[in-house]
Amino acid sequence: MSELRLVVVGAAGRMGRMLTQTIPDTLGVRLVGALEGAGSSSLGADCGAAFGLPATGVAITSDIAAALAEADAIIDFSTPAATIAVAKAAAKARVAHVIGTTGLSADELGLIAEEATETAVVRSGNMSLGVNLLAVLIEKAAKALGPGWDAEIIEMHHKLKVDAPSGTALLLGEAVALGRGIALAEHSARGRDGLTGPRKAGDIGFAALRGGTVVGDHTVIFAGMGERIEFSHRAEDRGIFARGALAAALWTRGRGPGLYSMADVLGLTC
Ligand code: NAP
Repeated sequence: MSELRLVVVGAAGRMGRMLTQTIPDTLGVRLVGALEGAGSSSLGADCGAAFGLPATGVAITSDIAAALAEADAIIDFSTPAATIAVAKAAAKARVAHVIGTTGLSADELGLIAEEATETAVVRSGNMSLGVNLLAVLIEKAAKALGPGWDAEIIEMHHKLKVDAPSGTALLLGEAVALGRGIALAEHSARGRDGLTGPRKAGDIGFAALRGGTVVGDHTVIFAGMGERIEFSHRAEDRGIFARGALAAALWTRGRGPGLYSMADVLGLTC
């Protein structure tokens, strides 16, 4: 079988560079394009050599249509605005889109759902096997324990992260909501401060910590009467997200249009 031709969006970013580094070690894939925004100082540079990695022969461009012309799949860890621009082009060109970007609004998620009627889209707030397995366990725990156990989600990330709660915290919150058969949007409690009053029954609480170089720590606490259960995951390096995204891109091969999750890719769907 021929190699899967990949375009990386956000090629100069932390995840983009991690992908450029990981792709040569991944069987069955080849980097053919690297995208950055029109104002990027990296335009025209080799997406490996520019960052102290082996040269790739792929120059960074902001021309989405040209980058997609020879591509089978896109891996996108960028910004919501960039992801939406790429989604429109991917739908038109019928190129699979693996989306790791977090912080997408409800309207932007609607546009991604539209994209998924034209091409295969895998979107996940966390591409790691461990976190996706954790989400399955959380869903089962939430279902077994019921809303009488208070669910709280704590996350910590490096000081440069710009959105909160993290995509992973939201993914874990969705797992609690799914297990309880409720909508997260109607039961999520964020940013408690000041005179908040007692905790509302059935709420799913979120707390975000930021500092240093933490790649990503998440803990889901179920607090009952006189006992507490905690599930934790700690990401030690960004390679786990890159490897997961590459597995997702390979999984899209031959796949029809649709909005898929990492649980689908990893065969973890309940
Ligand atoms: P980052 O270092 O800020 O990288 C984002 C890159 O996207 C930057 O190089 C940025 O360029 C670039 N960009 C901005 N506008 C663009 C455009 N129009 N076209 C193409 N590229 C554009 O951030 P990161 O740590 O790599 O994370 C990126 C995203 O992935 C975030 O949303 C983060 O939360 C998410 N993430 C998800 C997972 C997961 O498993 N799902 C894991 C890690 C990170 P400028 O700096 O010039 O703006």
